[in-house]
Amino acid sequence: MDIRNIYCVGRNYRLHAEELDNAVPTSPMLFTKPTHAVAPLDGTLVIPSAQGAVHYEAELVFAVGRTYVPGMRPDDLLTHFTVGLDLTLRDLQDKIKSKGFPWLPAKGFRNSAVLGRWLAYPGLDQVSAHAFGLRMNGKKVQRGLMQDMVFGLQELIDYTGSVYGLGPGDLLYTGTPAGVGALSGGDELEVWWNEETLGRATVKLEQ
Ligand code: ZN
Repeated sequence: MDIRNIYCVGRNYRLHAEELDNAVPTSPMLFTKPTHAVAPLDGTLVIPSAQGAVHYEAELVFAVGRTYVPGMRPDDLLTHFTVGLDLTLRDLQDKIKSKGFPWLPAKGFRNSAVLGRWLAYPGLDQVSAHAFGLRMNGKKVQRGLMQDMVFGLQELIDYTGSVYGLGPGDLLYTGTPAGVGALSGGDELEVWWNEETLGRATVKLEQ
């Protein structure tokens, strides 16, 4: 897949916004990652070690296959989906937020846009009928359902498509449910949807 723009939605699950003491937004809160941030969750996942805690955020990720025009439905636009990790340098993000600086250093570093294996998009009803999440060292640490999203997929594509544009090769990370936490070297990560494992890797700290 040739990836173009990587859009991510912040604070799109109420319980996650609350666990970080953030207000729930009244319109979608978007940020982007460079395409160089993409990494498959397959084998080894190298993360930064010198800038404080790196948090996992398991998210449903959708791949766009057509150019958005108003009136399109998710089922017209999307071709694939998976579960990914929006990795976040949380200590750095806290510093950045207190200064009012852009989030890029905390959200856009190499390997921060982790992706499981792509599945063919089966339609919104089917995707939202099943839970997704992250297992760490054999334990389920995150579990989410699309029905708990603050802004649903239709709202997200309408907002993103009309304000910034959406087209073939664009990805949309749709926000993380509660349960985010820090990664350590040696952690075994597994993302899943509908009890099916879509990617698996061991965390390695950057030397
Ligand atoms: Zn996120």
